[in-house]
Amino acid sequence: MMSKTSCQFDGCKTRAIRRGLCEKHYFALWRAVKAKRVTWTELEEAGACLPPNQHRVGRPGDPKVAALLKKIEQRRDAKKAAPRKPVTTKSET
Ligand SMILES: [Zn+2]
Repeated sequence: MMSKTSCQFDGCKTRAIRRGLCEKHYFALWRAVKAKRVTWTELEEAGACLPPNQHRVGRPGDPKVAALLKKIEQRRDAKKAAPRKPVTTKSET
């Protein structure tokens, strides 16, 4: 039985087909995932989509894709920017 849920993308009223998203928004995110800009897990954590096999509509007011991807990228960059120990061969003796 198909549940009649609309896309949980902010302001979108189209029927959700996968991950709580309509075809258009699902594939928009799918492309971002394929391009390795984000992962589905990151999108799930950001509340942008639902885990697979779940048709429930999530929280309202989810951010738009661009803002969302930017936020995730920024978070990832922040992780990357974390101080990494330079490989120095300094002997301390
Ligand atoms: Zn949509």
